[in-house]
Amino acid sequence: MSRFMGARYSLFDAYTPGEQPQDRQYIKLNTNESPYPPSPKVRQALDAGEIEDQRLYPDPECTALRAKLAQVYDLQPDQLLCGNGSDELLSFAFMAWGSRGAAFADVSYGLYRVLADLHQVKAHIVPLREGFVLDDRDYLGLNRLIVIANPNAPTGLALKPRQLALIAEQNPDGVVLVDEAYVDFGAESCLPLVGRYDNLCVVQTFSKSRSLAGARLGFAAGPAELMRDLKKIKNAINPYNVSRLTQRGGIASLEDADYFLLNTRAIMQTRENTARSLTAMGFEVLPSRTNFLFARHPGIGGAALYMALKKRGVLVRHFGAERTKDYVRITVGSQEQMAALLDGVRAIMGGIRA
Ligand code: PMP
Repeated sequence: MSRFMGARYSLFDAYTPGEQPQDRQYIKLNTNESPYPPSPKVRQALDAGEIEDQRLYPDPECTALRAKLAQVYDLQPDQLLCGNGSDELLSFAFMAWGSRGAAFADVSYGLYRVLADLHQVKAHIVPLREGFVLDDRDYLGLNRLIVIANPNAPTGLALKPRQLALIAEQNPDGVVLVDEAYVDFGAESCLPLVGRYDNLCVVQTFSKSRSLAGARLGFAAGPAELMRDLKKIKNAINPYNVSRLTQRGGIASLEDADYFLLNTRAIMQTRENTARSLTAMGFEVLPSRTNFLFARHPGIGGAALYMALKKRGVLVRHFGAERTKDYVRITVGSQEQMAALLDGVRAIMGGIRA
C-alpha cells in the first residue's frame, strides 16, 4: 500500500475473488460460473448496429431492461434497479441501509463482511446452527440491515420464503436483503413477496443461471421507496453503471425462457448425479439448491483435496475458516467436467488408501 492510501482503506481486508488463472487451462469449478454459453438470442442482440452504438452512453435508468424484468417477474418497473453485477447492488445496500449496523451469518458470502468494513457498518455476525442451518429465530427483532443469501453460499442450503417473510415482519426497523444469486437452481424465490413488506429487498444476478458473469448484471427488487434509496447511491457513484452491451444482452436473455429452463434443469440434474457419486465415495455432501456442492470426506482435509485436484488440472474452491476448512466447494459444470472431477477425486482417494 502506498503512503497516500487513507488509513480507513489501508487497514481492512478486501474480498479475495476465486482464482481466474491465466497460466494454464483448468477445468474451472471454482467460481460458480455456468458451463453453458448465454442464450443464442444474446449473440443475435449484440449485432453490428449495437457495436456502432457503443459511442453512446447507456441508458442510466435501464428502462427497457427493467420493463422486461417487470414483465418476466410480475413486478412494476419502479420496483426494480439494475446493477453492475449484484455485488454492486450489495455495496449500495450496505451504504443506503447500514447505519444501524448489519447482521449476517458467520458462514456466508465473504463479501458481506468486506462491505461492512468498507462502508463502516457495524457487523453483527450470527453463527449458523449445527449443520450450517440458518435458524430464522436468530434474526428476529434485530432491527438493522439483515443480509441473507438464499440459498446460502458456500453451503447451498435454502430457506423457505415464509421464513424470510417472518424475518421481515419481525424487523420493522431494518431492511431485510435476500441475496438470491443461486435461487434459480431449485430454491423458492422471494420475488413474489416484493411489495408486501416495506422493508424487503431481493437481489438477483445474471451471472449464474443466465451464463452472463462476464457481462456483469444484477438487479434489486423491492418497494419503489427502497429502489429510490439505491438509485440515489448509484447516481452518486456510477450513474451509467450498466453498459449498453449488457443491457441489450440482458433483455435478450430474458426473452429466452426455454433456454434458461433447459440449462438450469441440466445443471440441477448434473448436480444430483455428482452428489450421488461423491456420496458413494464416502463424501458427506450438503443438500444443494445451487449450482455448486459443498462436500467433505473424513479421509482428507479440504485444503489437501483442493491442492491435489489443482495438480490434476481441476480447480475447486477451499475456504480456510474454522467451520469450512474440511470442505471444498465444487461448481456444477458440464457432465464431462464432472466426470473429470470424479476421476480426479477417485484417483486421489485411491492414492490415500494405497
Ligand atoms: N451473491 C452471492 C451469494 C454470490 O456467491 C455471488 C457471486 N460471487 C454474488 C452475489 C455476486 O454475483 P455477481 O456480482 O456476479 O452478480
